[in-house]
Amino acid sequence: MKWGLIGASTIAAERMIEAFRAVSGGGAVTHVLSSSPERAESYAAEHGIAHGVSDLEALLVGDIDAVYISTTNEKHFSQAMAAIAAGKHVLCEKPLAMTVADAVTMVRAAEKAGLVFATNHHLRNAGSHLAIREAVRDGRVGDVLSVRVFHAVYLPPHLQGWRLDKPEAGGGVIADIVVHDADTVRFHLGEDPVDVVAMASSAGMGKGVEDSAMSVWSMPSGAMVQTHESFTHRFARSGFQIHGTRGSIVATDVMTQGAVGEIVLTTETGAEVLPYDTHDLYWRSVGLFCDAVAGQGRPAADGVDGVKSLAVAAAVAKAAETGRRVAVDYGGI
Ligand code: NDP
Repeated sequence: MKWGLIGASTIAAERMIEAFRAVSGGGAVTHVLSSSPERAESYAAEHGIAHGVSDLEALLVGDIDAVYISTTNEKHFSQAMAAIAAGKHVLCEKPLAMTVADAVTMVRAAEKAGLVFATNHHLRNAGSHLAIREAVRDGRVGDVLSVRVFHAVYLPPHLQGWRLDKPEAGGGVIADIVVHDADTVRFHLGEDPVDVVAMASSAGMGKGVEDSAMSVWSMPSGAMVQTHESFTHRFARSGFQIHGTRGSIVATDVMTQGAVGEIVLTTETGAEVLPYDTHDLYWRSVGLFCDAVAGQGRPAADGVDGVKSLAVAAAVAKAAETGRRVAVDYGGI
């Protein structure tokens, strides 16, 4: 598999280039696109990538099988559509697009072209979350009554750019983190949120965008979901809890990029720490994507998963803005 990177981003530098090379060998990444020719060149040189280009067409005519899109969010749609038109498989960052309708268009276009399209939701690739899901599927918590997601973090200084002051680039904590929480809840419960209520605020980090949000979602089974996302919390630990009729899972420090955290299952017989595999989350995401391209299995999170996580985030944003309970509109997908 040969990859073209659309976006000379931090996430590609910190996680994904290594993952592509781990899965597909040293020569896996052949091209990188930046909007700036100088940056394309310097990024390519820094990361040992043969071609640094500033024109999307130049990347798409290259000898690549797939693209990884990690530009700012407003660019994902047009870049994905161009890549699909050029016959490239697409691994796209979340949120897939600025609107659910655009995300549906991307996913349908890839489907029609017979191309693999995936969303880079890393959390469902974590050994911790795979272990939680297995426990839920095995009935160890019984019927799920509620879920609490704690995902209030401190946005690191080197990422304090467009997320905090560019709503037109898809900034704000709802676009950034609620999508991950929605995907993780859907992954564990196997059902899609029906409607939501929400509030959002800015404690000063967000300028023109929210830097914190809290919401409550109803699920078809009757389970209630409570989530908290923030860019401003320096010392809060992240977590995911599932409470059921037979047990509770309290997982701490698991809403993160590393293979870390602790999962405790408590039932009538006492508390038990659940073991889990500590593989790299992003390597697994890329590995399953490459398998899907080779005709084996499906990506960890496909395009439909990306549409649905975006749809929940869009409903949370609308609920926070209007103060109303908002039905999640999945765009017909
Ligand atoms: P960055 O801000 O690092 O990158 C976004 C764009 O900003 C790049 O494409 C680049 O533009 C420009 N840029 C980045 N660094 C510089 C710089 N030093 N100087 C000038 N321009 C720069 O964003 P992230 O990597 O944090 O996020 C990118 C995408 O990935 C987003 O969609 C985000 O939601 C997603 N993401 C997903 C994560 C996950 O775990 N799934 C984690 C983090 C982000 P150009 O390409 O034109 O040079």
